[in-house]
Amino acid sequence: MPPTTRPTPPRAAAPDAAGRAALGWLHTARFLTTAAQLNQLPALELPEIAFVGRSNAGKSTAINTLTQHTQLAYASKKPGRTQHINLFALGRQSQTDAVLADLPGYGYAAVPQLDKLRWQRVMANYLVSRANLAGVVMLCDARHGLKELDEALLEVIRPRVEAGLPFLVLLTKADKLNRNEQAKALSIARLHAGGGHVMLFSALKRLGVEQAAVWLRQLVDEAAPSHDAAPEPAPDGEPEAK
Ligand code: GDP
Repeated sequence: MPPTTRPTPPRAAAPDAAGRAALGWLHTARFLTTAAQLNQLPALELPEIAFVGRSNAGKSTAINTLTQHTQLAYASKKPGRTQHINLFALGRQSQTDAVLADLPGYGYAAVPQLDKLRWQRVMANYLVSRANLAGVVMLCDARHGLKELDEALLEVIRPRVEAGLPFLVLLTKADKLNRNEQAKALSIARLHAGGGHVMLFSALKRLGVEQAAVWLRQLVDEAAPSHDAAPEPAPDGEPEAK
């Protein structure tokens, strides 16, 4: 009888060539501009990927982990602080090929109701009307899945998702769940994600980091072939805390 050979288990932590390339590309992220209102956002032709999520979902940590910058995105927990959409350019210098949009976290209890409503409107308008929006990444705590405000936001973009807009749910802080709980969280979120992709993500354990990076890179490749890369718009000012 021939000796039995055990199949080598896949090593999730080791990025393959596509993962390395995607992470290298994300590492080029740099501040582009910030806007407190939609009409302050520059009209861009580059594919733009919006990161959305409840306050405290782990959005800043995920952006910093994906771009491998410690302070690119940061969360301000101060109530009443003006909220901004921060744009970051991606791609080699002078060859920007995409834009990452960090939208303010929603659902923070201490924010006054009027501010909450104003920002829900700004976000809804952004998601419905931003012409170059090429994808949406929603960050949800893996322990809680999609909550009411996430579902409401998903309703806003549903027509665009149904028309083909790539949509990814990252279930953050997955290190806080065991294997069974992770599997359960994945299947429940898949039911709620309305045809979007769902991945487990942990900045702490680097779970799903390469996988999410490759998803983002593929989205941009499909949205705009590299020969369309545009010269970079000039950055203006400093990023605002969200
Ligand atoms: P944001 O408000 O959505 O930007 O959330 P933050 O990125 O500020 O994260 C909120 C909290 O979750 C912080 O205390 C983070 O340290 C924590 N956190 C974020 N990502 C992870 C993760 O992958 N694992 C664990 N255990 N904690 C995380």
